[in-house]
This record gives sequence, C-alpha cells and structure tokens, in this order.
Amino acid sequence: MSATPSSPLPPFDAADPLGLDDLLTDEDRAVRDTVRRWAADRVLPHIAGWYERGELPGIRDLARELGSLGALGMSLTGYGCAGASAVQYGLACLELEAADSGIRSLVSVQGSLAMYAIHRFGSEEQKQHWLPRMATGEVIGCFGLTEPDHGSDPAGMRTHARRDGSDWVLSGRKMWITNGSVAGVAVVWAATDDGVRGFVVPTDTPGFAAPEIHHKWSLRASVTSELVLDDVRLPADAALPEVRGLRGPLSCLSHARYGIVWGSMGAARASFEAALEYARTREQFGKPIGGFQLTQAKLADMAVELHKGILLAHHLGLRMDAGRLRPEQVSFGKLNNVREAIEICRTSRTILGANGISLEYPVMRHATNLESVLTYEGTVEMHQLVLGKALTGLDAFR
Ligand SMILES: Cc1cc2nc3c(=O)[nH]c(=O)nc-3n(C[C@H](O)[C@H](O)[C@H](O)COP(=O)(O)OP(=O)(O)OC[C@H]3O[C@@H](n4cnc5c(N)ncnc54)[C@H](O)[C@@H]3O)c2cc1C
Repeated sequence: MSATPSSPLPPFDAADPLGLDDLLTDEDRAVRDTVRRWAADRVLPHIAGWYERGELPGIRDLARELGSLGALGMSLTGYGCAGASAVQYGLACLELEAADSGIRSLVSVQGSLAMYAIHRFGSEEQKQHWLPRMATGEVIGCFGLTEPDHGSDPAGMRTHARRDGSDWVLSGRKMWITNGSVAGVAVVWAATDDGVRGFVVPTDTPGFAAPEIHHKWSLRASVTSELVLDDVRLPADAALPEVRGLRGPLSCLSHARYGIVWGSMGAARASFEAALEYARTREQFGKPIGGFQLTQAKLADMAVELHKGILLAHHLGLRMDAGRLRPEQVSFGKLNNVREAIEICRTSRTILGANGISLEYPVMRHATNLESVLTYEGTVEMHQLVLGKALTGLDAFR
C-alpha cells in the first residue's frame, strides 16, 4: 500500500538516518535490544580497564551469560541452539562488537567456527556430546586452522594426523587461536593421507597445550593462544566424518565472516556516536566543532558509509536466510565493511583530537581491534582476490 501524499514523513533520526529499523521484525528488534542491554550492563562499564590490562576476566561467566541469551551457536538449530535467523545473529554480532570486538570474537569463534564445524560436519554422537554444553557456554570451543608458517594459504599446513591402529595421532602447532587457552574443546584441522580433516580434540587430552599469546596491541580483551599438539592420541571417532579437504574450514570461515560483516559496523557505530556527541559539545573558535563545515563533511561521510554498511549486512542476512548467500558475497561484505569501519574509527579519532587517543573514549580501542578484524577471517587482499577471481574468471592467488 503506498502512502498518500499528505502522510507526514517520519522525523529524521540521526541514529538511523535511512530508516533501516523499518526492515526489522518485532522479534529482530527484541533480539537486538536484549543483546544491547546485556552489553551495556556487562561489558561497557569494564571494557576500558580490561583492555588496558590486556585481560578478559570472568570469561567463563560471560560465556554462560551469552549462552543464556541464546547467543552461542545462535543461528544453528537443535542441540540447545536458539535457531535464530541469520539477520538476528547479525544484529547480535553488531551489538556485541559495538561493545568490543573481543566479545564478538568470543561469540563468533564459539558459534560460527567451533560449533558450526561440529553441527555441519560432525557425527550424531559428536553433536550430542558437545553442542548442548557449548550452547549454554559451559564448554568453550576454539578453532585451529592458522599455523606459524601458514596463514592465508592453509593448504600447506604442517599439522598432521596419522593413523595408529584405529587411533589418530596429531602433531603440529597452530597460531593465533582465539579462545585457545580457555577452551574445553578444540576443532583442529590437520593434513592426513586422505586430505585435510577436522578433529574434535578435548583440550585435556595428553600432549595438548594452549599457551596464551601476550603483547598484543589489538583485541586485548580477547584470549589468543598457540595450540601445541605433541603426539595427541585420539580415538577413531574424533575425526569429523562429513568433510574432507579445505572446503571444511573454509565453509566455517564463511559463516564467521558473515557475522563480521555486521559486527564491524557495531565498532563503527560506537566510534561514530562518540564523535558525533563530541562534535556537538566540544567548542573551539567560539562554537561547537560540529558547526564547522569540515567536521560536518566527516560526519556526513561516516554516516553514509556506516548505514550503507548496515544495509549491505542486512541484505546478505536476507540472502543467507533464503539459502542464497554465496561465499563471494560474504567476501564483498567483509572487504567493504571492515575497511569502512576502520576508516570511520580513524576519522572519529580525528574529531576527538587528543581525547581520541584516550581509553576514556571507545574510538582508539575499536580502531586497534579492527586491525585484527581486518586480518583474520581472510585479509583484505584475500577477499580482493576472491572477488577478482569471481569477476574475471582468472585465479591470481599464486
Ligand atoms: C587476534 C587474532 C585472532 C585470530 N584467531 C584465529 C582463530 O581463532 N583461528 C585461526 O585459525 N586463526 C586465527 N587468526 C589468524 C588469522 O586468520 C591469520 O592471521 C590470517 O589468516 C592471516 O594469516 P597471517 O597472519 O599468517 O598472514 P599472511 O598469510 O602471512 O599474510 C601476510 C600479508 O601478505 C598478504 N598476502 C598473502 N598472500 C598473498 C597473495 N597471494 N597476494 C597478495 N597478498 C598476499 C596478506 O593479505 C597479508 O597482507 C587470528 C588472528 C588474529 C590477529
């Protein structure tokens, strides 16, 4: 039904200039508001201190609370998972990352990488054994693909699994693994005589260690670890039965990247809001700096990219819900949104002047977090190459 010409236009909303809220269902809004309230209550009051100290204390309690919100394995069905839509999962990622990328990373790795791998490629026994406790946050999961010498190109991974009788024996090292030191279960990808395979590794198995990586200047409120696998002996049924080859880890990554398309816009929104508020109240040369044309140009350009990015994320969410989302489209979204998000944080930082470098404001924290987000789940260059190949039909990866 079209509106009559005399219908009053809705007022302009600086928080939602395109009226994207109209695209959401009541249930979508309820999910978004619940996660936003949780983050405001449980993360925002503490995050600057955690970030400064490089810690995520109470991560097990946070995981349980996220579990009771239904945020872990949120878009998966059965086994205690919430069975939410892709759009709702995306909205949750946005709200979590508006608090901190580290919290969204905890949720992405748990749900989109570790749980997704077991849900999609696991046996019924593996699903029954792990997923319900991962959905509640009782068990934290990690996902080990990257190695010290194999990041963007995991095909040459050195971690391998050999048969010994009916057992598997895993050896190797994984690097930069989110949640590693706090995980109860690790999904580890290893080379076998039968191609790359995934293994579900209880982290108390002898020979498994996960020392934490320190000295990070990004994602400081997130646990990042090395995984050391020293002749880790596993029963035959530890292997994920339903997948062979890199298709396994890459399809998990595609799911997690989808969450980042939304999440990165959360970091951007928080930075933009800080800059807008600052521009309205900070006075120089006798008036608020938001009254200068140069500041307005920055704010207008940031608002355009922020809400275009959210619109793009929503579009991809609708395609995922319809079962029509291609990996190249996820690359499109991750490439654009993380790149624009980091640019919004940097521009916001300039509006805050010297205050922009302080942890009193969220902007620099988000900007440095996004340096990791720009690199993990496929670097900018990898997504350019994915799109370049799709556009030209020519493979430029090697
Ligand atoms: C905080 C954090 C958390 C992470 N969590 C996880 C996790 O939970 N699990 C996991 O498995 N991994 C994780 N990672 C690792 C991440 O996925 C890798 O860092 C990423 O894949 C890039 O690998 P790399 O760092 O080895 O860089 P490299 O692959 O060595 O790349 C270095 C540079 O070279 C460029 N480059 C490489 N090949 C080409 C090419 N063909 N053409 C053009 N440029 C190229 C890259 O784009 C990049 O700019 C995490 C990383 C970080 C920082």
